[in-house]
Amino acid sequence: MTFDLSQKRIWVAGHRGMVGGAVARRLASEGCEVITAGRDRVDLVEQAQVRDFMARERPDAIVLAAAKVGGIKANSDYPVDFLYQNLMIEANILQAAHEADVARVLFLGSSCIYPKLAPQPIPEDSLLTGPLEPTNEWYAIAKIAGIRLTQAYRQQYGRDWISAMPTNLYGPGDNYDLNSSHVLPALLRKFHEARVAGAGTVTVWGSGTPLREFLHCDDLADALVFLLKEYSGHDHVNVGSGVEVTIRELAQTIAEVVGYKAELVFDATKPDGTPRKLMDSSRLHAMGWNRARPLKDGIADAYADFLDGRDRG
Ligand code: GDP
Repeated sequence: MTFDLSQKRIWVAGHRGMVGGAVARRLASEGCEVITAGRDRVDLVEQAQVRDFMARERPDAIVLAAAKVGGIKANSDYPVDFLYQNLMIEANILQAAHEADVARVLFLGSSCIYPKLAPQPIPEDSLLTGPLEPTNEWYAIAKIAGIRLTQAYRQQYGRDWISAMPTNLYGPGDNYDLNSSHVLPALLRKFHEARVAGAGTVTVWGSGTPLREFLHCDDLADALVFLLKEYSGHDHVNVGSGVEVTIRELAQTIAEVVGYKAELVFDATKPDGTPRKLMDSSRLHAMGWNRARPLKDGIADAYADFLDGRDRG
C-alpha cells in the first residue's frame, strides 16, 4: 500500500457535488477524518481564502472534486465560468496544498479532456494529441491545466500527487436541470415527467447515435479510494466501466427503469457532441480495480434517489 488512510485528515473539496459527496460517503468506512467546507467557509476561487483554510486545517490528503461542471449546453452558454472558475479552483488548491505540505492530492479531471478524434477506447497517453471537442473545450482546457499542474508539483517538488479521469458519471446528487445537466439525468427526468403526464413522446437531443460510457458515482468513489491508497505515479489514470451504449439505447434502458413506454423524438437542432467516448480503463483494471455495477442497476439507484429528492423537495 502506498498511503494508509486510517487516522488521516482528508479534505474532500467539492463535497456538495455528486462526486465529492460520493467520496465523502465512501471515506467514512476508511477510519479517517473527513474534512468538508461549504462555500460560506471557503470560496475556492479566492486564493487568500483557500490559503487560510489550508493553513488552518492542515489536511494529510485532498481529493480535489470541486469544479464548475455542466453539460453540452451550459458549456457553450457560460464559457468564462467553465474556464476561469476551474483554473482558479485547481491553481488555488494545489499551490496552497504545496505551501501546507499536504502529502497526497488526488486531482479529478474528466473524459472530455481527450481529443475529439482520440483512438477508442481512449488511452491515457492520447492526451494533447489532437484538437478538443469544441462543445466542452472551456472545461477541458481548465482540466488539462489541472493535470499538468499536479504533475508539475510532482516533478519540481517531488509531491506524491496523482490525477484520475472519470468517464461520464451519474447517481445520487446529480443535476436534473434540463438546461445544464448531462444526458442521463436529463432523460431520467424527461421519462419520469412523461410518465406522470401520460405523454406519448420523449424528446432526445441530437441523433441518438453518439456512444457514451457511464459510471455510477459510488463506483467512482470506490475506485478513487483505491487509487489514493494504492497508486503513485506521474501519469493520470482513467476510471470507467468499460461498457458503452448509444444515446438511443440509454433512453430505452431509462424507459425500462422508469417503467414507461414513450416514442423517442430526436431533436436534430441540438448538438450530438463527440461521436464516441469510451475510456480505456485497462491500467486501472490491471492494478486490481474493476468493480463497476451494471448500468441498469445503477440507473435504478439513481432513479430511486431522484424520486426521493422529489418527495423531499
Ligand atoms: P457530453 O457527453 O459532453 O457530450 O454531454 P451530454 O451528457 O450533455 O450529452 C451527451 C449526448 O446526449 C449528446 O449527444 C446529447 O445531444 C445527447 N442528449 C440527448 N438528450 C439529451 C438531453 O436531454 N440532455 C443532454 N444534456 N444531452 C442529451
